[in-house]
Amino acid sequence: MNVLVINSGSSSLKYQLYDMSNESVLASGRVERIGMESSILTHEVEGQAEVREVSEILEHTMAVRKVLDMLTHRKFGVLRTIEDIQAVGHRIVHGGESFRESVLVDADVKLEIRKLFDLAPLHNPAHMMGIAAVEANLPDVPQAVVFDTAFHQTMPPTSYLYAIPTVLYRKHKIRRYGFHGTSHDYVSKQAAAFLGRPLEELKIVSCHIGNGASCTAILHGKSYDTSMGMTPLEGLMMGTRSGDLDPAIVPYTINKEDLTLNEVNSMLNKHSGLVAISGVSSDMREVVQAMEEGNESARLAFEMYAYRIRKYIGAYAAAMNGIDAILFTAGVGENSDVLRKRVCEGLTFLGVELDESRNAVRSNETRRITKDGSKVDVLVVPTNEELLIARDTYRLVQNKALSDKVGQT
Ligand code: ADP
Repeated sequence: MNVLVINSGSSSLKYQLYDMSNESVLASGRVERIGMESSILTHEVEGQAEVREVSEILEHTMAVRKVLDMLTHRKFGVLRTIEDIQAVGHRIVHGGESFRESVLVDADVKLEIRKLFDLAPLHNPAHMMGIAAVEANLPDVPQAVVFDTAFHQTMPPTSYLYAIPTVLYRKHKIRRYGFHGTSHDYVSKQAAAFLGRPLEELKIVSCHIGNGASCTAILHGKSYDTSMGMTPLEGLMMGTRSGDLDPAIVPYTINKEDLTLNEVNSMLNKHSGLVAISGVSSDMREVVQAMEEGNESARLAFEMYAYRIRKYIGAYAAAMNGIDAILFTAGVGENSDVLRKRVCEGLTFLGVELDESRNAVRSNETRRITKDGSKVDVLVVPTNEELLIARDTYRLVQNKALSDKVGQT
């Protein structure tokens, strides 16, 4: 079965086509600047030169049509006809409390996702445009939705409630949801397989450190607590986001600086974190380079960033009464040995014994970076959210086909 995975944003649409017989990627790409002048479609097939096509793509239905044209293109395509796509899986940022797992799309599911627009106003409407665009182009192909929040729906109320009047939870569903769930789910399963131990026995802290960053306490395979909150602003210090701060800072800053709420919101989301403290960049590579060249602000930003990750790991070790494994994933987590080293240096009390030469190895494989015999294993696990979306979609479509067949007999 071929599964097309789509991540639809407001002006962009990323895609990956999987052959699920061996989980290989047949093609991938993205459409950017949808609805703007000169939209760009970039298409990649392993072993071939990247194709770039500039045209006017007014909206998402047209974007999906362009992608399908490319996938079936005589020269650059990988499929004979669009009928060779048997299912489509979508990434959806916010599933609220309605979705505890991935589901197939039907009218009720679409209605529920619409109801969640308020919780993710930038993301969910854009995802819905992607679903509608696929429906328009491939009306008979089943679609599944995979939520960033679903994995965290196992958190107990002690983790997900904020200590504010409960009426706000009841009326407006103000609570911790957590994000990067697909990634935390995927890497914890990979780690258990790597360690050769059942996930149900393990206490894991998974650190997804990319532009956005979050730590999750995974107790016996289930999310127990996570650092992002009602929105992806809470928790760790990130590229441009502040992470945790005293909420009283918001009204105080509004008064002192004569700012609007929107301006403060934008400051915390887009002009804080690494870029604010370093004054250099939101990109960890540039911050590390500046630090190594002697830039003190860059050093402070790096130290704060590592310190907060370490604090969360410590907190989650306490939350679970111990840890067996710490996982690093995503752009920074997978690539920055300096950051991993700095985080682990303060974790010897837990029994973390980093192996510096293992930590320095660059690879796309899951690997252990602690010494043999270290009480806690620290692993680098490359994330692959698209593959998990493809797997969930494949499983749901297979199960549906099976139950339809049983229903007919
Ligand atoms: P996103 O949250 O956008 O999915 P990614 O997980 O792709 O982000 O991570 C992107 C970030 O990874 C970049 O901003 C960059 O800071 C960081 N990164 C990539 N390579 C390295 C590296 N070699 N060293 C440090 N940081 C890196």
